[in-house]
Amino acid sequence: MDWIGELERAGVGPLRDEPLSRHTSFKIGGPADAFVTATTRAQAAASLRIAKAAGVPVFFLGWGSNLLVRDGGIRGLVLALGGDFERVDFPGPELVRAGSAVRVPQLVVSCAENGLTGLEPIVGVPGCVGGALVMNAGTREGEIGPFVEEVETLGPEGDPVVVPRSALDFKYRSSNLGKSLVLSALLRLKRGVKADIMAVVASQQQKRSRTQPIHTFNVGSTFKNPPGLYAAQMIERSGLKGHVVGGARVSPMHANFIENFAGAKASDVLALVDLISERVRAESGVKLELEMRVVGE
Ligand SMILES: Cc1cc2nc3c(=O)[nH]c(=O)nc-3n(C[C@H](O)[C@H](O)[C@H](O)COP(=O)(O)OP(=O)(O)OC[C@H]3O[C@@H](n4cnc5c(N)ncnc54)[C@H](O)[C@@H]3O)c2cc1C
Repeated sequence: MDWIGELERAGVGPLRDEPLSRHTSFKIGGPADAFVTATTRAQAAASLRIAKAAGVPVFFLGWGSNLLVRDGGIRGLVLALGGDFERVDFPGPELVRAGSAVRVPQLVVSCAENGLTGLEPIVGVPGCVGGALVMNAGTREGEIGPFVEEVETLGPEGDPVVVPRSALDFKYRSSNLGKSLVLSALLRLKRGVKADIMAVVASQQQKRSRTQPIHTFNVGSTFKNPPGLYAAQMIERSGLKGHVVGGARVSPMHANFIENFAGAKASDVLALVDLISERVRAESGVKLELEMRVVGE
């Protein structure tokens, strides 16, 4: 079946062999066979149905800020969201509904402007709401999960499914979401004073720019913090801060960040990941677990 032709006929404008380095904060990643940005629910549903009928795998992409896409790229369809999914609404005094394609900093600031508090700890997470829900994005001060009332998804046939709070399972940087396309979420926050919330937002942003290499190509924390420990400290103690493999290096500013500083390949980053994992394991006996997701071939 000519599934890419079907996508074209459905009017969802697939891009063929689209380099995923254009869609990841690492600026790394080989091509997707077909890349669609669905801007309406109908487009998203049609894309899912066509891929399902052709037996083609679908990968859901947010802002690409937690992904290392391998150099061979992703076979099948890569589906991102835009347009209608970039909306933020306030359906009640303590409620906010955000589309999956809304950027997290934009959501937090919109909430602050509407006198809603709770999400300030994640204002520096650069991803989209969909990715934040799947990853249960957070910091030491708080995560998105506890605020989620319900999540709207599309099943593999493009059928809408609302997942209630009782069926959601948020853990440290993971959740039971991500098998279906996440369209939007309803969050319950607390009322607060706009000026106070904005002050917290500003201090969070300042703290981040002092401590993290936010102006480089990276995906945030490479590894999860092992219980009671900090991955960054362990990597620093192993002597690998600033270590270079090809175009990738352990950030000289924050040892749990890997930077693409000179046209790195995914293979450079993976070599660095292996080196860090082996060194830390040899020194401390702790097996670091990846926080970034490695996908593609
Ligand atoms: C400078 C920097 C700082 C960061 N700081 C933090 C931090 O403090 N805390 C933190 O938790 N993270 C942090 N991150 C990592 C990243 O921003 C988060 O994990 C974010 O939630 C990922 O969102 P995304 O939209 O980029 O998702 P992506 O990276 O595109 O995808 C992540 C996962 O979610 C899935 N997914 C994405 N969208 C959908 C959807 N609509 N439906 C179904 N599945 C979907 C993808 O398939 C993938 O498995 C940081 C990253 C950077 C670059």
